[in-house]
Amino acid sequence: MTTEQLLRPSPSPLQALSNTAWEARGLQVYIKRDDLLAPAIADPFCGNKWRKLQYNLAHILNQPERLPILTFGGPYSNHIAAVASAGRHFNIPTIGVIRGEVVTNPTLTKARTDGMQLHFIDRTTYRQKHTPEIQQQFLKQFGKVHLIPEGGTNALALKGCTALGKELAAQLPDMTHLLLACGTGGTLAGVTLGLEATNIEVLGISALKGNFLTREVEQLLNSQFDAIPTSWQIFTTFHHGGYAKAPKDLVRFINQFQTQYDIPLEPVYTGKVAWALDQLIAQNYFPEGSRVVLLHSGGLQGLVGGLMEI
Ligand SMILES: *Cc1c(COP(=O)(O)O)cnc(C)c1O
Repeated sequence: MTTEQLLRPSPSPLQALSNTAWEARGLQVYIKRDDLLAPAIADPFCGNKWRKLQYNLAHILNQPERLPILTFGGPYSNHIAAVASAGRHFNIPTIGVIRGEVVTNPTLTKARTDGMQLHFIDRTTYRQKHTPEIQQQFLKQFGKVHLIPEGGTNALALKGCTALGKELAAQLPDMTHLLLACGTGGTLAGVTLGLEATNIEVLGISALKGNFLTREVEQLLNSQFDAIPTSWQIFTTFHHGGYAKAPKDLVRFINQFQTQYDIPLEPVYTGKVAWALDQLIAQNYFPEGSRVVLLHSGGLQGLVGGLMEI
């Protein structure tokens, strides 16, 4: 695929999920297949990472000088793997600053294979990565770079997710609810701006324990003066024990979802959103006649070898 085709593919499909129990409640449920938005199957440059990097890459490719991208993440970060893969596709050198002691795992191995230079830093320094002092230090160590923050959430990332909101509104104009996974909340913030001040309710499902996300999304939205978001809220009760925790009942649910719909999910983000959808339907959260969309934000490269074992 050419650079142009990679950055401007056609809209990702919106598929109906047929389920007699949900239909009996008068609900129509769809899944937005952003996991298919990728240069190849199981490529980590996919899903919401594709949306968030799209305008960043276009901006970088427009610069006269080809500087490396420097970014940050934990050792299991989908964002790290996505940046590494995008760097390979677009011929941009990449540097990943990884939190904690030196480790190896499939995500980091893939990033390295995609040409990313990995640097591990201790957790204390990592927490200060966005302070001017530490950034000076990076500048000295790595020279001039394009800095992309942890999780890829910056203004250009929001712009990519705003485009996703607009794409969805065009595909399903009478959508009433959208459910999506939250890590930094950047995807949610961008999507709510793309849906503008409609009556569509965006429900963010936090993949992390804690209540800090609402404030962070508010801050992200406050940085966008010229747009009014649709209504949104974040649920903090579907994390299943915390980030990347995957208890057996969640794994069983994901395997069942795959068997029923032939759509793979992963336990860190999308499995938790599908679970939340199922639970909220059972709790009668959605009024009869609702048209609910589940966002498949990708993340499948972390799954090695198909169905997960329980
Ligand atoms: C990174 C990631 C998220 C979280 O996105 P944020 O914009 O940080 O909230 C959600 N889903 C998947 C599959 C991801 O890889």
